[in-house]
Amino acid sequence: MNIYLAINQGAKILKAKFISNYLLDSEILMANTIKKDRKFILSNLNLSLKKNDLDNFQKLIEKRSQGNPVAYLINKKCFWNSEFFITNDTLIPRPDTELIVENVIKLTKNKNNLSILDIGIGSGCIIISILKEKKNFYGTGIDISKKCLDISEINAFNLKVSSRLKLYKSSVDKFNLGKYDLIVSNPPYIKKHDLKYLERDIIGFEPKLALDGGLDGLSEIRKVIKKSSELIKKNGKFILEIGFDQKNKVINLLKKEGFYINSAQKDLGMNDRCIVCTKI
Ligand code: GLN
Repeated sequence: MNIYLAINQGAKILKAKFISNYLLDSEILMANTIKKDRKFILSNLNLSLKKNDLDNFQKLIEKRSQGNPVAYLINKKCFWNSEFFITNDTLIPRPDTELIVENVIKLTKNKNNLSILDIGIGSGCIIISILKEKKNFYGTGIDISKKCLDISEINAFNLKVSSRLKLYKSSVDKFNLGKYDLIVSNPPYIKKHDLKYLERDIIGFEPKLALDGGLDGLSEIRKVIKKSSELIKKNGKFILEIGFDQKNKVINLLKKEGFYINSAQKDLGMNDRCIVCTKI
């Protein structure tokens, strides 16, 4: 079978299972199977596939048709301006989270040698993107998941920031090391009882540990705010991702812990998503 037919067959299967980007997904999975880019695929549609490649491609299509996200099937996702290695032990980096990086870059334009803490590092996408932009900044990342730390370490190595990133396995409440100029975090913030309403691709495949914010969605955010207040330097900035309905509650928590609110920002879907504040 040639590439063209296989992609079309794959796309048809995905369409029947209500996968919205069925054709694109089929093309990406093909590119990944034969280790070429999408451009190669589209200019070599007549190329016939080896039996082994066709089998592997069909297996990926089957997994995708069950909702398994493309990013997990190809083990990578672009975030900011890099490609990150990911597995289903980490959340898939989201464009919404790029807001944090954007804010940090803006806030630190003329700053040097800052030390940054990322609480709940996951794939490492936030802090590694920052370290790539700011060559004299130093990073510390913590996560309760050893697997996330291993993945962050791989990404830090691939993206050449390993020498400026320290990683620790720790829960947020037990971590007491250092003082930081800047703290970032995208903690789990979905209400436990709302997890079931997330899209199938998310709830069926992404790690609940990275999503579950407890009964009111704020249990991890509360800990992150308290810890940040302890570990941040005076006048240090704290940039936090939040759920679409958490702005007012989170602002109150921040004020109680001595933070001045600089701004609350919406993501591309116009949902409240990111809070920038300063420790006073
Ligand atoms: N934004 C993610 C989602 O809606 C949740 C991320 C998180 O809990 N930190 O799926």
